[in-house]
Amino acid sequence: MVQVKAIKAFSDNYIWCLTTHNSDLAWVVDPGDAQPVMGHLAEHHLQLGGILITHHHSDHTGGVAELVEQFSNIAVYGPINSPFAGITNTLVDGDSIEVLGTRFNIITTPGHTLDHICYIHEELAFTGDTLFSGGCGRLFEGTPEQMWESFNKLRELPKTCKVYCTHEYTQANLAFAKAVEPRNPELLQYSDKVDAQHAKGEITLPSTIGQELRVNPFMRSDLPTITELIPKEFVLVTKNNEPWENFASLRRFKDNF
Ligand SMILES: [Zn+2]
Repeated sequence: MVQVKAIKAFSDNYIWCLTTHNSDLAWVVDPGDAQPVMGHLAEHHLQLGGILITHHHSDHTGGVAELVEQFSNIAVYGPINSPFAGITNTLVDGDSIEVLGTRFNIITTPGHTLDHICYIHEELAFTGDTLFSGGCGRLFEGTPEQMWESFNKLRELPKTCKVYCTHEYTQANLAFAKAVEPRNPELLQYSDKVDAQHAKGEITLPSTIGQELRVNPFMRSDLPTITELIPKEFVLVTKNNEPWENFASLRRFKDNF
């Protein structure tokens, strides 16, 4: 089983670094910047074995060219429909790949971007900018319906599956979540825990699918009550009580929060 460590990049990105006990190879997920990766690999006497890309945004791909130059012949896995040109091994929905002896299934999760994919093992998932702890990525390219469909794939994962997303947005996401569900006891408890972690400068990730199902309003869009406290101007007017409509209303409220 792979071990996963965070490499910090920019102001709030995490580049996830995968290693195993019996190898000096490391893989990284979404290296937006090569420098912190190079520093981490040198410090831990690791060689880069390959790269996983979730989507084309530059804070996820900006370091790829330099890393490929430094470590020749490494594979760069990413979505087949990506505008990012640096992918050497393209992936489609349902593909599976082996990384350091651990098998990951590929699911397409359009919404934040149209090329977004997640890397899924039953014990851990790399969710990029699709699912954050307490929140979800902005809909830059896809529709709320698409994103809700993507979330449904993630909602079906084992509750113990660890969620490794790309950004440390948890505290801000939970402030929004509390505006939506101010009386969700598990949310309030989680928010206190995250506040304490922030105060100590600690990372709040990984989360788990089970935790997100309990506290993340976007994961809870199927609850009829989830839109009760959303200001009317953000609630979809063509409301047929479809979960994706609740999801759309939540996203509109969050975009203006
Ligand atoms: Zn992004």
